[in-house]
Amino acid sequence: MLKMATLASGSSGNCAVVSDGRSHVLLDAGISARRITTGLRALEIDPKGLSGVLITHEHTDHVSGLAVLCRQLDVELYATEGTARQICWKNPELESRFRVFDPGERFGVAGLVVDTFATSHDCACPVGYAVGDGVRRMALCTDTGMVPRQAAECIRGVQLLVGEFNYDLEMLQMGAYPYHLKERIRGESGHLSNEMGAKLAAWAVEQGASRLVLAHLSKENNLPEKAHAAALKGLAQVGARVGDDVEVHIAPRDSVSCWLEV
Ligand SMILES: [Zn+2]
Ligand SMILES: [Zn+2]
Repeated sequence: MLKMATLASGSSGNCAVVSDGRSHVLLDAGISARRITTGLRALEIDPKGLSGVLITHEHTDHVSGLAVLCRQLDVELYATEGTARQICWKNPELESRFRVFDPGERFGVAGLVVDTFATSHDCACPVGYAVGDGVRRMALCTDTGMVPRQAAECIRGVQLLVGEFNYDLEMLQMGAYPYHLKERIRGESGHLSNEMGAKLAAWAVEQGASRLVLAHLSKENNLPEKAHAAALKGLAQVGARVGDDVEVHIAPRDSVSCWLEV
């Protein structure tokens, strides 16, 4: 059994938890330590039972709660060397906690199998993750301007995908953001649009995924309805039937989701 829940999703904070019922790992810690521990308890997980935190990259919305969390809990942190270096620059006390890896490496955390893949984002050395119990797997792919081949290979065959649906292209283009920021977001090292997210999601479903979580929606440049509509359109194009073949969920921005089991 493998299950996943999100505690927050979007540019104001990202955090998810994956569990096989015995071992639990966090994916990012971009909300306050208090919100993380409260959220875990709401999901009936004792924060002290956390085995590790898998970090995608050093942007604040992914690591803001990390330092305080590490003062409270004895957890190991997993990140690429580039990401770890950026975080330790600000928080040198965390250095001994880090277990570093290269993108593409596989390792185990308390019985969970973790696969990693490079993403394309404007930071030191970003990654996404696939976490499995040996039978079932889920993947998280957010904060990437495109889907590198290594990412697609890693996502192939997962039962659950947490995928980025950051912006609606029209809303971004018409919106109030300055030109350089718009360019950054839609660039190859930015974020996935609804359309690109839908393409990845539809592909993942073709490869066997039966649960989709639309994640990291922009507050300014997207609407849940638009992300959802894009996902449905992408799924229809590959002949996937929502409800029968696949469930589509949207990760709540500021609240704890329910568990999704695969
Ligand atoms: Zn982010
Ligand atoms: Zn980011």
